[in-house]
Amino acid sequence: MAWEVGDLLDSLGALDRRRVVAPDALPGAPDASLQIVTSPTTARPLAGVRLDSTDALDAAIGAAHEGFLAWRRVPAPVRGQVVRAIGDEFRRHKAALGRIISLEVGKITAEGQGEVQEVVDIADFAVGLSRQLYGMTMPSERPDHRIIEQWLPLGPIGVVTAFNFPCAVWGWNAMLAAVCGDSVLWKPSLAAPLTAIACHAIADRVAASMGHTGVFHLAIGSDEQVGEPLIADRRLPLISATGSCRMGRRVGQVVAGRLGRCLLELGGNNAAIVEPDADLGIAIPSIVFGAVGTAGQRCTTTRRLLVHRSIADDAVARLVRAYETIKVGDPLAPGVLVGPLINQQAVDGYLSAIDAAKQQGATIVTGGTRVGPEHTQPAGLKGHFVRPAIVRAPASNDLPIARDETFAPILYVFTYDALDEAIAMNNAVDQGLSSAIFTASSRAAERFLHPSGAGSDCGLAYVNLGTSGAEIGGAFGGEKDTGGGRESGSDSWKAYMRRQTCSIGFANNVTLAQGIRFE
Ligand code: NAD
Repeated sequence: MAWEVGDLLDSLGALDRRRVVAPDALPGAPDASLQIVTSPTTARPLAGVRLDSTDALDAAIGAAHEGFLAWRRVPAPVRGQVVRAIGDEFRRHKAALGRIISLEVGKITAEGQGEVQEVVDIADFAVGLSRQLYGMTMPSERPDHRIIEQWLPLGPIGVVTAFNFPCAVWGWNAMLAAVCGDSVLWKPSLAAPLTAIACHAIADRVAASMGHTGVFHLAIGSDEQVGEPLIADRRLPLISATGSCRMGRRVGQVVAGRLGRCLLELGGNNAAIVEPDADLGIAIPSIVFGAVGTAGQRCTTTRRLLVHRSIADDAVARLVRAYETIKVGDPLAPGVLVGPLINQQAVDGYLSAIDAAKQQGATIVTGGTRVGPEHTQPAGLKGHFVRPAIVRAPASNDLPIARDETFAPILYVFTYDALDEAIAMNNAVDQGLSSAIFTASSRAAERFLHPSGAGSDCGLAYVNLGTSGAEIGGAFGGEKDTGGGRESGSDSWKAYMRRQTCSIGFANNVTLAQGIRFE
């Protein structure tokens, strides 16, 4: 029987038959140690994946620690060369890796490959960084003394990832951690272990071929058997965790309980403000991509549209026209822009949010329903499809369901009269990841980005760009319930290192700081 995922893994040298089981070899009876990975597009099994036990995790953490002890001694620019070779391999295998992502989590081809490109980009960035892990020098108050700051490798890093970026988020963490001299232990989502197996195999093989074993590690298992013991383990000084706010609260507590460090990248509830002078030729396509791209399953998805009352009807009418052209179906089929949600639970979450919105007085302008097999592109797909929805809040703007992050394509539309009101609405949710304003006025844009902090309270603030689709060069992350972490570009690398302040005396006598005499 044809087994596409198996062939793709094989082409990448990543088909370990002890780990991955073909659909026709799956056992008839339930087996707790085997995760069945189901296609969100067809609802049929793609493969089985053998899960790690708590003992296997313990061994992996031990191996990551051993690997770290050797890797940290490799000069940083040499570590950069290994990351360069990994980036080249991801470049070479972009199409195959992108296809595995599409099959496993339902991203359209461009978005699946775009994720792989993010790994290539962050690898390039990390190679440059490997020669720029700069410390500072500062003047000492004492004669014949010197103070410097140096950045040192931190240890094995635990990386916990969400299903919706099954490759890029690991790449952001792993490429930076590797140039910083850390080994990496990755625990992927159980909804996307096949992408993880492929990415890990490539990185591990490249590093080993250059003489560096033990840098990259993978543990796949349930939250009880693997997730919880991983975050609790003192051998992992940093846990970088991406996922829901619920998960972040738990990880934050457990890691704080052992006084470890956390880098949390959690849920968003992102708004776009549309001012009366906005260029709708820019705003409408940006909002559509932000709201329906990845079927609304991005942390940066546009979930709330705050539109000036004078142009609200026109903007909504244009959005509806754009939504009506969107094809929902097989993410690998040409012309399809919206693939499936990840599973049935996600469809249920979408439908219950739509119900709640109706009960709270909102109007469903378009969408709001499941897409049955007869209406998919091509017809007959039995996966988890929904029609992207636009929901207009009641005149009071009181719509409690819009405070939640429902991980699906629902765009709630609110109207406002004054920019300050819109900025207050942007900030009036618990999450603080991404935000956008569309305007031709530099005054309005500057108020949104106000240097006092009185504008958007989010980690990402865009002008005349949608809320999703960040570049790797800037620090990525959000405030409030989004967790406060920063990953990817800028100086995010500092999270993966420890800072040491070194004071060196070369005087012939003892001088104490603060002028203290102790004689
Ligand atoms: P999730 O919280 O269900 O799972 C995320 C990861 O955490 C998985 O690997 C899961 O197994 C693990 N996990 C859950 N509980 C754990 C525990 N107690 N101990 C250890 N690990 C545990 O999230 P999801 O459904 O996979 O992803 C969607 C969510 O992720 C959304 O809220 C989205 O906004 C968020 N997300 C945020 C970012 C960001 O950068 N801010 C990026 C991608 C996704």
